[in-house]
Amino acid sequence: MRIVYADNNATTQVAPEVYEAMIPFFTENYFNPSSMYEPARSTAEVVARSREGIARHLGAGDPKQILFTSCASESNNTAIQGVVKANPTRRHIITTSVEHPAVLEVCRDIERGGFDVTFLSVDQDGNLDLREFVRALRPDTLLVTVMHANNETGVIFPVAELARITKETDSKIVFHTDATQSIGKLPIDLQREYRHVDLLSFSGHKLHAPKGIGALYIRRGTPCRPLLIGGHQEGGRRAGTENVPYIVALAKAMDLAMANLDEEQTKVRQLRDRLETSLAERISHIQINGKAAPRLPNTSNVSCYSIEGESMLFELSEYGICASSGSACTSGTLEPSHVLRALNVPFMAVHGSIRFSFSRYNTDDDIDRIIEIFPEIVTRLRRASPYWDAKTNIPRQSAEDTVHAKNS
Ligand code: PLP
Repeated sequence: MRIVYADNNATTQVAPEVYEAMIPFFTENYFNPSSMYEPARSTAEVVARSREGIARHLGAGDPKQILFTSCASESNNTAIQGVVKANPTRRHIITTSVEHPAVLEVCRDIERGGFDVTFLSVDQDGNLDLREFVRALRPDTLLVTVMHANNETGVIFPVAELARITKETDSKIVFHTDATQSIGKLPIDLQREYRHVDLLSFSGHKLHAPKGIGALYIRRGTPCRPLLIGGHQEGGRRAGTENVPYIVALAKAMDLAMANLDEEQTKVRQLRDRLETSLAERISHIQINGKAAPRLPNTSNVSCYSIEGESMLFELSEYGICASSGSACTSGTLEPSHVLRALNVPFMAVHGSIRFSFSRYNTDDDIDRIIEIFPEIVTRLRRASPYWDAKTNIPRQSAEDTVHAKNS
């Protein structure tokens, strides 16, 4: 069966060029970059060159500000916990209610340890309220951690502006962003527009490098203590022998993404937009979540009233179409997504949400296939749904939505 892979916000295929680039570092140049003999010194140089390349793509200046980690979750943990460990006095953190669990759960954990955490809300399009943000900044605020682009809806937050406002209010507040979904999709320049960002996290497997490699940008002078303590690798900021093949892979993946950023993202946007237009023509009672906000070009989060996201996923997978419902990392649970709940998506729609996310490897044929199959599935599932009125072809009002409508 032909597979249509439309779940690129969960993970991506390793690019063939990336795979090629990393192989010699398993089989020939396998040395520990900290060893003193000549072949190992050349391995250390390769790590240094990879770091330089990544720093250049991010406009980061000094490459020493790039720290290699194992994944974005580790980068986020290092950033947030590292700042908390380095600052014993301030005890307030600002984040948003739509972060990935790799930020949200870390903040909740710190909250349980006695910190105050403000979880900013979003409006129904997924946008933050800048006035609410300004009001949340306090004299004891230690850290602001706001994601760049949302993994479920693709909605982009104005991180450069939020970082500027933060620093203009109090230059001692540390600003972190989880840029896992935006790296390789949006241009970032840490010395220009994003110069007020102190910490930036991402991982390789969202941009065609393998799973198991991530990075954290730490602006020089940012108070942030290490999470992994032991050897002196990574300038003493993360113990553990460097994962050389994967570091090479991450650098190569960034070279590829940045070389064709505009062209690729335009192509991906066209695919995504064609899908959304066609689905809206063919399926009644759907909504595209986050459509009115600035969004990543590759992400489409579609809610179909009166059916279950999990049933849609199951049916799609019977046809070889891979997508996701809720957060990629939590799919498999039947709880509606915390992100869509934060957007106040009505009860009847929030359960029937599905995310398609594309990459440079998707084609027009993939989109045609989804357009051919998906509306049929929706019709079939609605016929069997107690929440769908088959006579009038409209959703039955749910008790939850009646309460919701009365209260809003
Ligand atoms: N942050 C965001 C926004 C993500 O989308 C993800 C993964 O989906 C992560 C963090 C965690 O990434 P990793 O799997 O590299 O730890």
